[in-house]
Amino acid sequence: MQNHKYDVVVIGGGVVGTAILRALSFYQLKLLLIEKQPDVCEGTSKANSGIVHTGFDAKPGTVEAECLRRSRRLWPMLVENLRIPFIPCGAVMVATNEEEKQIIETTYVPQAKANDVDVYWMSAEEILEMNPAVTTKVTGGLAVPGEAICDPFWATRAFGEIAVLNGAEVVLGHGVSHIETVPDGEDLRLTLENGGTVTTRYAVNAAGLWSDEIARMVGEESFSISPRKGQFILTEEAISISSIILPVPTKTSKGVLVSPVVFGGFLLGPTAEDQEDKWDRSTSEAGMESVLAGCEKLVPDTRQFSTIRQFAGVRAVCSEGDFVIRPSAVQPRMIHAAGIRSTGLSASPGIAELVAETLQKAGLELQANEQAQHTLPDLFSEEQDTGEIICLCRSITRSEIVHSLKRPLTPQTIDGVKRRTGATLGECQGNCCIPKIIDVMAETYPDQTGKQPLKGVKNSYLAVVQGEKQA
Ligand SMILES: Cc1cc2nc3c(=O)[nH]c(=O)nc-3n(C[C@H](O)[C@H](O)[C@H](O)COP(=O)(O)OP(=O)(O)OC[C@H]3O[C@@H](n4cnc5c(N)ncnc54)[C@H](O)[C@@H]3O)c2cc1C
Repeated sequence: MQNHKYDVVVIGGGVVGTAILRALSFYQLKLLLIEKQPDVCEGTSKANSGIVHTGFDAKPGTVEAECLRRSRRLWPMLVENLRIPFIPCGAVMVATNEEEKQIIETTYVPQAKANDVDVYWMSAEEILEMNPAVTTKVTGGLAVPGEAICDPFWATRAFGEIAVLNGAEVVLGHGVSHIETVPDGEDLRLTLENGGTVTTRYAVNAAGLWSDEIARMVGEESFSISPRKGQFILTEEAISISSIILPVPTKTSKGVLVSPVVFGGFLLGPTAEDQEDKWDRSTSEAGMESVLAGCEKLVPDTRQFSTIRQFAGVRAVCSEGDFVIRPSAVQPRMIHAAGIRSTGLSASPGIAELVAETLQKAGLELQANEQAQHTLPDLFSEEQDTGEIICLCRSITRSEIVHSLKRPLTPQTIDGVKRRTGATLGECQGNCCIPKIIDVMAETYPDQTGKQPLKGVKNSYLAVVQGEKQA
């Protein structure tokens, strides 16, 4: 079996794992990311509210609050360098009675102050002027102008792509199944589900819901992860709100919210349902009812909206009640980036920075890679577009699809093409264009033995497959 040796292997290709890969790609390191699913952003990172939180309500002093604090500084640069779709729409936590107003004043104003996040009180009139669809029962609310929305898939893909451009490698479609310490040495040997092995000086555990299982692979049992589902409704109704509308949380739940979506439409939800199964992302009638009942308290017309989609994401709830970012107590060459429950998209740049510092403290030398790129080039120009339409509903052209197949992180699936181009997302939901997309993929992709990788495409998936065949 071919053996590859790396300085750092990141396990998990969600927003946290790819953000870490990006941050490490600015140093002279041999890097690999291993993702179990056929694409990045297939876990919790693809099904969330898409809000870039300020952390105004984070518990002061926690690792989560610290990562959100660091991220607030990093997001503007990331949005610009990686051209991440991002709308700084702000949020309002809406009070509808005196008790809710008291909770805001005694809990959330002091928390925002402790976290150094700007907030201010808005009158009912001001809220309704900006957001006419909000309930007229509103008595006022807490404005959080720094809250924003973004595209989580774009962010995750862009983090991964810039790392690949800087020399990092990515294996998709094969999870890590076993970890051992190399005999007579300190290196770690990771076995993949396909039987391949890689050796690394350090590993980062960014496996989301499964990060406790990765910890068990090095014999650590200090934390466990349990799944908490959140169901959503997506509507393209033109709702008269311009900010994220938040309820005042209760003792048991943060409650459901109404939020604009970066590409248009609105998200209603999510629920918070503890469950046993980490894979269960089903939606239910009861879940939808709970979303509608919660949202209509904020926006009374909610039940009139037509729904275009419903979906669910699953949070990784950690037994420690906070992010776990530290070296494993059992195997100090494994750094955990685990238990990233509710704000991982927002906190990912700060988590990545903290993980790099933790690796350095654990003995990894970080020497700047002077050649590293910070800006993701737009490899597609409209002049190159032949204008041949493949997806009629969304007007996506053949050239756009070919371009998506040649990006640094090449999609292996139709879903991957969908998320990179928007094809299949329209009214026909792919009925007309999927066969055409398959044709374009077949024409564009190399022989899947990996003998002729596309020029300029750096994706070690093909190399690993090739390695297996040679072994
Ligand atoms: C309903 C809901 C709403 C949310 N809203 C927001 C929000 O508005 N803003 C915000 O900031 N955050 C939000 N979050 C939280 C955010 O989505 C998560 O914190 C974040 O996506 C976690 O990212 P991750 O990379 O740790 O996990 P994941 O995205 O789950 O990535 C982990 C990856 O590890 C892979 N993996 C697992 N086992 C292995 C293995 N053995 N080998 C290799 N790979 C493996 C998985 O396939 C997965 O792709 C929300 C979450 C939910 C569920």
